[in-house]
Amino acid sequence: MNNTITLNNGVEMPALGFGVFQTPPAETAEAVATALATGYRLIDTAAAYGNERGVGDAIRASGLARDDVFIETKVWISDYGYDETLHAFEKSARKLGVDAIDLFILHQALPGEFERTIRAYRALERLLADGQVRAIGVSNFMPAHLASLLEQTEVVPAVNQVEVHPYFTQPLVQAVDAEHSIVTQAWSPIGGITSYRGDSSTSTFADPAILAIAEKYGKSAAQVMLRWHLQEGRSAIPKSVKPERIRENFDVFDFELTGDELRQLDALDRGVRGGPEPEAITLESFGRDIPED
Ligand code: NDP
Repeated sequence: MNNTITLNNGVEMPALGFGVFQTPPAETAEAVATALATGYRLIDTAAAYGNERGVGDAIRASGLARDDVFIETKVWISDYGYDETLHAFEKSARKLGVDAIDLFILHQALPGEFERTIRAYRALERLLADGQVRAIGVSNFMPAHLASLLEQTEVVPAVNQVEVHPYFTQPLVQAVDAEHSIVTQAWSPIGGITSYRGDSSTSTFADPAILAIAEKYGKSAAQVMLRWHLQEGRSAIPKSVKPERIRENFDVFDFELTGDELRQLDALDRGVRGGPEPEAITLESFGRDIPED
């Protein structure tokens, strides 16, 4: 199976990437270095994660050509607005130490101030036209947010990065993305958010159906979940700071799930979101300053 996805503007993106949410800044360069040495070529970070500098440092130290690594980062809501978002690009590019960003996305919709979200997206369109970013997209956009965005802007987002794991599959969001040739990129793809609080009764890693499939292939639950995303055409960006897990999560290209198994995994959906409700995101509750350096 091909490990890249062609975005709706023709740009090629690795399907399986590496996430760094909650990776402490001091550990980021090492985790990303391990990921690059393992073979990952897509790194997903965000201005709000505070670790873009570590991502850039690891890419430069890897010896890989800049063109061989696909860098994705996100604008935080506090930097929405046309000029503000152009400036957010400068901040992220400076911290990453790059001239161009491969995929630049809006981290959340601001439903109560959608006009501001639109101005931020228009800044992304401008950066795209100027060649400073190779593709643009969104994250946590629900169908109503996408509809309003598509109505008021020119460039269809290449990617919508949303929570997708076997316990929360968002079929409607995925269908709307597909209708517009927007790639659904799964965050918390192995259900990290179902186990952050250490409760195994809510954790995808302890799910008996997933473990039964894993046992059949001599693979882990995480590997089965990642295979499910790839075979269903999604991009996935698992995170780990542990070298053995970083390698495990990339070792998914030597087995194939059956159609029945894919459907079994789809059927585990509990319809309960782990992340914040996208409609409830406001500057008052989630705003925070993104430093210049
Ligand atoms: P993941 O589904 O990637 O799971 C990560 C968690 O699972 C960590 O606690 C990690 O711990 C653990 N883990 C990793 N690999 C394994 C394994 N093989 N077996 C058992 N446990 C494992 O969740 P995330 O929430 O981190 O999501 C991934 C990425 O998605 C983020 O890093 C970020 O880039 C993006 N994201 C985007 C959001 C958005 O709003 N756009 C929101 C949340 C995430 P350890 O590190 O100790 O191995």
